[in-house]
Amino acid sequence: MISDKVQRIGTSPTLKISAKAKAMRAEGVDVVDLSVGEPDFPTPAHVKAAGVKAIDQDFTKYTENDGIPALRKAIAARLQEDHGLAYAPNQILVSSGAKSSLFHLIQTLVDENEEVIIPAPFWVTYPESVALAKGKSVIVPTKEENGFLLTPDELKAAITPATKALILNNPSNPTGAAYSRAELEALAEVVRGEDLYVIADEIYGKLVYDGFVFTSFAALGEDIKKKTVIIDGVSKSYSMTGWRIGYAAGPAEIIAGMSKMQSHTTSNACSISQKASLEALTGPQHEVGRMAAEFARRRNYCLMRLAAVPGLSCYKPRGAFYLFPNVKSFYEKESNGATIRNSYGMAYYLLKEARVAVVPGDSFGADDFIRLSYATSMENLEKALGRIVKALGQLKTAKKAKRVALNNVATRVRKAVPVEAGVDAKLRDALVAEVEAPLGRTPVYEWNANISGVIVQLRTNVAHLNDFWVENWFPAQLEADLEPHGVIYAVDGIAGREPRAFYNSETKTGILVNTDNYGPLRSLALGLVTDYAERMFGVHAVRGMSADVAGQGLILIGPAGTNKTELLFGLLADERFRLHTNDLVLVRTSGGKALADAVERKLYMPTSTVEAYGRLAPLFDYSKCENVVSRKDDCEDQECQNGEDCRLDRGSPFCYKAAKGGHAMLDPTWIGGRGAYARRTTLRWIFLLRNDPVSPACVPLDREEALRILESGEAIGLKKTATAGKAQPYFNPHLLVDSPERLDMEKAYFRRLLESTDCYLFNSGVAGAEKLREVVTGQS
Ligand code: PMP
Repeated sequence: MISDKVQRIGTSPTLKISAKAKAMRAEGVDVVDLSVGEPDFPTPAHVKAAGVKAIDQDFTKYTENDGIPALRKAIAARLQEDHGLAYAPNQILVSSGAKSSLFHLIQTLVDENEEVIIPAPFWVTYPESVALAKGKSVIVPTKEENGFLLTPDELKAAITPATKALILNNPSNPTGAAYSRAELEALAEVVRGEDLYVIADEIYGKLVYDGFVFTSFAALGEDIKKKTVIIDGVSKSYSMTGWRIGYAAGPAEIIAGMSKMQSHTTSNACSISQKASLEALTGPQHEVGRMAAEFARRRNYCLMRLAAVPGLSCYKPRGAFYLFPNVKSFYEKESNGATIRNSYGMAYYLLKEARVAVVPGDSFGADDFIRLSYATSMENLEKALGRIVKALGQLKTAKKAKRVALNNVATRVRKAVPVEAGVDAKLRDALVAEVEAPLGRTPVYEWNANISGVIVQLRTNVAHLNDFWVENWFPAQLEADLEPHGVIYAVDGIAGREPRAFYNSETKTGILVNTDNYGPLRSLALGLVTDYAERMFGVHAVRGMSADVAGQGLILIGPAGTNKTELLFGLLADERFRLHTNDLVLVRTSGGKALADAVERKLYMPTSTVEAYGRLAPLFDYSKCENVVSRKDDCEDQECQNGEDCRLDRGSPFCYKAAKGGHAMLDPTWIGGRGAYARRTTLRWIFLLRNDPVSPACVPLDREEALRILESGEAIGLKKTATAGKAQPYFNPHLLVDSPERLDMEKAYFRRLLESTDCYLFNSGVAGAEKLREVVTGQS
């Protein structure tokens, strides 16, 4: 398992979208990429020549960790010449790109839980860098009508005793906003009175327009300079993104800290690139001005095109090379029946419809916007803007479709919890006393379920568990007078305990602590009912997915990975088959017949089942759900997220596939109608499933062999993977009691069941529902 902090961050969205654009281009689609943040100019010839010369002179070894002295001197000279700032060589660190300087700086400054103020819209890397230092980003939204500038009052309000730094990106990626000297002075006044550092990311400082005069934050006075670390580099101004040279200038103590870190991460920046950067900073500077003038022309052109689009507004940037138009008025509009709901949906629409790659504003903390880079050729811009304007014009006001508000609960606990089933009477009493205490202080929900004749009472302080419980089971009659056969306590908020389930078989007591997820509660209930029914009623549990065909039943038994769901729903596509159950049946064998009952009123069904059976999606929309993903951050499926068709990217308000733990409480009669659902069937066929590419599709199994497979619960033919669970006797994870005596009883039950059914070993690796149907209907 990778660390929590790395799990939390995402891949840079700009990289993701340009990768998508590249993939489309590889397939022959003519996509214009306005997502990348780099000038389309070549690196100036004299700079390239300096790099080549460095190679010729074998300047290809490690250099000084902090950068070659000549380059650090040149950086100091540039800061002096451009901003009147004096820095000694030990106040400057050269890194592999400004991104690397920034990373080392944040790691150097920020300790766990310290706060970093980040005005939004922000460059995507800031919050992720802070997260990697285990700091806290304090995002302060700026206003479009304030030109996306942070105001002194907003800054003041965001400062707390935990504040360590403010990141001021001037000019800004993604908005192009830039602070005048007076605007910076006003912020500096606040900074003066506070104990915080300013990280001044000034990488776009040379790219400013309309006579705007750029001021470095460090130039506002000696006191401010002591609190400021400038981040800059050659990537943007000299069109050298791939050379990877950036730098930091600031107080010697901080630079020394960063240098220590760098000595263990990247060491020195590339030797050749350092020589080229030295030339960039000391050689002729006219290309910078030429590039800025060209960008101004392109910016004006794009602004002119966008100004003609009704409903769209766009701030006129003072610097950098991005436009950040507000596209909110197009949300809730549609094209070809697909509604655009947010900036992801808009970016997806423009990529598919206009064949232009732009970055969703949400990545920068501003969902009403998209980011376009105009650092590409005029020809590309003309093509792209023409297409964007046309595509936006095609969006129509969506028909008033009835919007389904998903009835969803996100739980804190997401997985199965460990179960301790052999709890003795003494421990049971102690546990009950422990959970009864908080139950006395919080609202208690109490409800008796009748689960195939076994009355189970739930006592819980979690409203969601009660809610799903009531949905899941039939009610017990005469609730008030009834003595339940078993009781389950599901109590959250027990201090000092991990989420865990306990079971005492003697008193049929289940105790679930500190989980708000329904899965473990349901499993405990099924285990309790199995334990009781097998002893008292001579009814026994079979775990599998089952269907009925003309009064005769078949059940699919096998571990995860044997395509049970696909097979079951494949069968249901044929009208002759009716749904019976998706997880567990209780079977009574008598007179050579195996009567199998479905035990649940509603099915607790993984929402990812929509992948096998798309018809379920609208049913889930109207069902009670648990842990359905509606924010991209919560999606657990990295591969799908990075793929072409991420539903959340396309503006879908939620995704049934994304959360592995997503479930819906589904009324089985909705799936195919009342006539397509059977509560009881007579089991005739048992299919034990395996999954491999070579074994025969379906072979009859003799009873002893079938018993052996069932008893061991070992997966057959499946590759052993780290995620595959351990073997489970009878493939039944709900079995609580596994004493030798109990397992003997299971074996006797299964022997009886196998006497009254036909058993096959079915290979889902080579055959599907069609083959099952053939076996079953050929004999029915
Ligand atoms: N800061 C900002 C605001 C940027 O936009 C970028 C590049 N996208 C960087 C820093 C990093 O530049 P590099 O690592 O290429 O020097």
